[in-house]
Amino acid sequence: MEKLQNFINGEYCDPTKGKYIDNYEPATGKVYSLIPNSDEEDVRLAVEAAEKAFPIWSKMSIEERSKILVKLSEGIEARMDEFVQAESKDNGKPLSLAANVDIPRAVSNFHFFATAILHFASESHNMEGVGINYTVRKPIGIVGCISPWNLPLYLFSWKIAPALAAGNCIVAKPSEVTPYTAYLLGKVAQEAGMPSGVMNILHGEGRSVGDAIVKHPKIKAISFTGGTQTGENIARTAAPMFKKLSLELGGKNPNIIFADCDFKEMLSTTLQSSFANQGQICLCGSRIFVERSIYNKFKEAFVKRVATTVVSNPKDPAAKMGAVVSKSHMEKVLSYVELAKEEGGTVLTGGVQVNLEAPYDGGYYLRPTVIEGLAFDCRTNQEEIFGPVVTITPFDTEEDVLMMANSTQYGLSATLWTSDLKRAHRIADQLQAGIVWINAWLVRDLRTPFGGVKASGVGREGGWEALRFFTEPKNIFIKY
Ligand code: NAD
Repeated sequence: MEKLQNFINGEYCDPTKGKYIDNYEPATGKVYSLIPNSDEEDVRLAVEAAEKAFPIWSKMSIEERSKILVKLSEGIEARMDEFVQAESKDNGKPLSLAANVDIPRAVSNFHFFATAILHFASESHNMEGVGINYTVRKPIGIVGCISPWNLPLYLFSWKIAPALAAGNCIVAKPSEVTPYTAYLLGKVAQEAGMPSGVMNILHGEGRSVGDAIVKHPKIKAISFTGGTQTGENIARTAAPMFKKLSLELGGKNPNIIFADCDFKEMLSTTLQSSFANQGQICLCGSRIFVERSIYNKFKEAFVKRVATTVVSNPKDPAAKMGAVVSKSHMEKVLSYVELAKEEGGTVLTGGVQVNLEAPYDGGYYLRPTVIEGLAFDCRTNQEEIFGPVVTITPFDTEEDVLMMANSTQYGLSATLWTSDLKRAHRIADQLQAGIVWINAWLVRDLRTPFGGVKASGVGREGGWEALRFFTEPKNIFIKY
């Protein structure tokens, strides 16, 4: 069976203690490779390599650094098929999604930050007749990047690209549930001529290697994307060490639909925003609020489309949805369907596992699920499920829907459907969310700030925000 390796100091290597964990293929439920279960000893080696590489990488001209990162992006593009196949196999997502979204976006992430750094500037503040302040922004040093399983290379590269572009060396850890494309990245970095020790990739469980990254005193900043509870644990460890922290956490996003929306466009986008990537995108709108006058029309049309959505193996070109990421995740999602029933909800469609024929009979397939009749403040409507389950709830007034939309501990994103411009501005302004889409969903411009409020996180990624996070400003004053 294939054994994945860590990538330290420009070379692939085995974990020092020789421990491995199973890597499952969600489409079949079978183990298909082994992942190093690294620990603090591997982190120590990676930090040592990063420390040696830092003077070389941080002092390299920005143009040269940029060229290497552009090559990295081109290297992924040149191996597009290999990356697409690997991402789909590792995660269970349809091949078409990996080919159209995940891997192209990873290419763009590297290209975007490779070129953004060429234009990154800092400020000066003149004090007339007194002197001038100028601010320099320097790389932090060694930074830790930890990412989740839902959009594996997409989110991994979203962190490591700006960290590297800003001149830092990294010790990075992809999710142990989906490690494969991050594993492939080592080869691409070697081919791109990235100096040894700049990019170190360690595999393994959060509680072993993830925790060791967060605790290492020479790792000065942590950029984390994952669950809110994990973010809280990380913050608890990192805060007393005064580490810079960027936390992109969970969500329970509202999708608000007014009667005056473009119904057709809303309906097809709502299918996407509910079930893309099996509902496992932090930006999916899992609570759908519909103005009462079109509630029944929406319910009928939506349920009809959801009920005919093709759930199939990720290689099937007809598949609109593939497998969810793991057995335990599937069980968690199903347990929420049971909870919803206990809380008085009615399952309008879905709520069950899908059994495919061999070799996919052991895979983790779920029917997309729509539930109605729940109170806005019940657990099903308050807790993150992170799977193909949405609830639909009618509303009467703007005040009502805003209260319900803002009622959770989360505040990542929101979607709003209306053709009334004034209302769109009014509601967008009052939604407690870091990102609001009006008459659209998941349209992303990499220059914009990305992140959430409340329990959805601290800090912003994207554009200058990311480059500011991964640099330390120093203000220097000189007297006239
Ligand atoms: P998770 O928190 O379980 O794991 C995320 C990463 O953290 C993994 O690499 C894991 O190994 C690591 N980890 C776990 N415990 C750790 C510890 N104690 N110390 C250090 N690292 C540790 O999350 P997940 O299940 O992989 O991903 C799903 C979650 O991610 C959902 O809550 C989802 O909303 C969130 N998410 C958020 C965003 C965003 O941008 N806000 C994007 C995608 C996913």
